[in-house]
Amino acid sequence: MNTTEIFGNFGNMVFADREMQSRLPKETYEALKKTIARGSHLELDVANVVAAAMKDWAVEKGATHFTHWFQPMTGVTAEKHESFITPSKENDGCAILAFSGKSLVKGEPDASSFPSGGLRATFEARGYTAWDPTAYAFIKDRVLCIPTAFCSYGGDALDKKTPLLRSVQALNKQALRILKLFGDTSTKTVNVTVGAEQEYFLIDKNTYLKRPDLIYCGRTLFGAKPPKGQELDDHYFGAIKPRVSEFMKELDEELWKLGVFAKIKHNEAAPSQHELAPIFTVVNTAADHNQLTMELMRTVADRHGLTCLLHEKPFAGVNGSGKHINWSLSAGNANLLEAGETPSGNARFLLFLTAVIKAVDEFQDLLRVSVASAGNDLRLGGNEAPPAIISIYLGDELTQILTALESGKEYKNTEQTQMEIGVTCLPHFPKDTTDRNRTSPFAFTGNRFEFRMAGSAASIADACVVINTAVADTLAEFADTLEQAPDFKTALSQLIKATINKHKRIIFNGNNYTKDWEQEAASRGLLNLKTTVDALPFLVHEKNIALFLRQGVFSESELHSRYEIMLENYCKVLQIEALTLIELIKKELIPACIAHQNELVKLIKNKANCGNLQFNTTLEARLLEKLSDTAAGLCDRLEELEGCVAACVGGFSTPLETAQYYRDTVLAKMQSLRESADEVESMLGRRCLDLPVYGDMLYGVG
Ligand code: ADP
Ligand code: MG
Repeated sequence: MNTTEIFGNFGNMVFADREMQSRLPKETYEALKKTIARGSHLELDVANVVAAAMKDWAVEKGATHFTHWFQPMTGVTAEKHESFITPSKENDGCAILAFSGKSLVKGEPDASSFPSGGLRATFEARGYTAWDPTAYAFIKDRVLCIPTAFCSYGGDALDKKTPLLRSVQALNKQALRILKLFGDTSTKTVNVTVGAEQEYFLIDKNTYLKRPDLIYCGRTLFGAKPPKGQELDDHYFGAIKPRVSEFMKELDEELWKLGVFAKIKHNEAAPSQHELAPIFTVVNTAADHNQLTMELMRTVADRHGLTCLLHEKPFAGVNGSGKHINWSLSAGNANLLEAGETPSGNARFLLFLTAVIKAVDEFQDLLRVSVASAGNDLRLGGNEAPPAIISIYLGDELTQILTALESGKEYKNTEQTQMEIGVTCLPHFPKDTTDRNRTSPFAFTGNRFEFRMAGSAASIADACVVINTAVADTLAEFADTLEQAPDFKTALSQLIKATINKHKRIIFNGNNYTKDWEQEAASRGLLNLKTTVDALPFLVHEKNIALFLRQGVFSESELHSRYEIMLENYCKVLQIEALTLIELIKKELIPACIAHQNELVKLIKNKANCGNLQFNTTLEARLLEKLSDTAAGLCDRLEELEGCVAACVGGFSTPLETAQYYRDTVLAKMQSLRESADEVESMLGRRCLDLPVYGDMLYGVG
């Protein structure tokens, strides 16, 4: 395929606006657009026409089935395929293809097996999926996929999309109030824009298939370090290997067909680690597209004899993978986090900027919760990703500007000006001066914020829901104050000053990876919620429940259900990991260890029995001694872990206690067992152990 053909295929598997406009009668198209703009209900007669057009389009493209594509609390997407086939009315044994408006707008998957955290009893299995007309339908693998929200019959959200849509609505409402105060009455919608950079590992599929820990857990549970990791930094941005390059090309082309603006690809810091970044788009689409990207990474890799690992920490000793969420607000063509050319544009910028600062400071706990998972715990704070402490990087220049504003002093850096909100222009600060600190969890990068704590496997919806809601709430508070004020300019200036003063503790421009910062952050009163189990209870703290209720994003029962689901998930992940590690040690490592000792014993014996010949057996004896001792340690630690896992069953009264036990006891024992296992592995010759080692996995793609 030549370049024109490749780009000509962009979006050809998406029932996007262009397609709707050309295929729908004018009135239907306009009714649909109105529904989308207002977020209102779609009338059934309109839905019927849209469904028929969608089906015709999909069938022309080779689709045979449709599905409501949704994002339950498992964090991955779900689909149940239904074919378009319907018996013809004549009952003549023939089939016609049909797709009704009813099937388009609403589905009823038997959803009893999805996590609901008690929101839906299993005997009331019915949950329903509802079309989200703001996200385009698309065809994937001959199936017409309708992006949908997933709710219980009582209307409780059971998915990741519903709260995201609610949070966007809340933010839109409050941001519009602020814009109005600045005299902008023409902007009808403020949207959240997001670009999610996605990191991943690619390893050889045959190697992957020989590692049960990768298969069951997505990460290696033991494995001695290879002589070379990422010390030389020679993989980062290095030339892309031909096999990986072929994969990347196909992935790009598949994503482009689905309308995903895949833009940047490169090798990352760890061997076999890579990154893909799309061009930013509205958050709802960005979240859908990120899910599609992860799914396609897996399926395309498979076609190339590769396996894509999306776990946050597949290999100890080298970097894990994250997802950088670039976040901003757009009002039509204006980016609200971009300093304007005019004094009033600057005042608006400063107001939105300080709103984010306040929101992040007040809801540090929720931001931490939004990226909490067993996998991400292995990465945060490991000198490769931001620590578990939330802080904001603004860069020196912007920090100095805010300091000058707060104190009413002169801002001396570029022009000697008295900073006055709404009167002076901000000096221009190019992206370069604001994008150098890679250690910050929440960095201002010139015209957006970049939240760098999310794990590679997570849905970006979780973090975006928190940022959107917290910022919406702050804007609401700002609007309440400013709408009452007799003089807008004075009130605005006071508000910005007071906000900086109160929340500046969250700003930190230094190196987030140091011990000093940990101490400094503690003295500033910032939270340091090191593990998922420390963080999760904050989800149901009174202040946070109140936030979500005020903004209409979660009900109290929805929050409690999510809290339970996340705790349960944490425990299950660790249980599976512990069981897998136990099995691997018993079925692979111990037999290899025994066989090798047996060989050594035999060799020593045979050497002694060689008639009159005398042989030196120092090597065998030393190896045997060392191996027996280490293996004994391995055995002790294995038994300890087995004991701990057995003790979990029914042993605790609350899910939180169970999770604490998994973290403090099971995980700790897994770690010490791993240390023994790594030592034993390093003593075994290559042919003793039928498992790929770290070097094979990290360097196995030719
Ligand atoms: P870096 O590696 O320096 O962080 P990249 O170019 O890899 O930068 O990724 C930057 C991401 O930020 C891209 O996805 C880009 O589209 C996104 N981005 C740029 N502007 C905005 C914006 N206004 N809102 C949201 N995301 C943005
Ligand atoms: Mg980045």
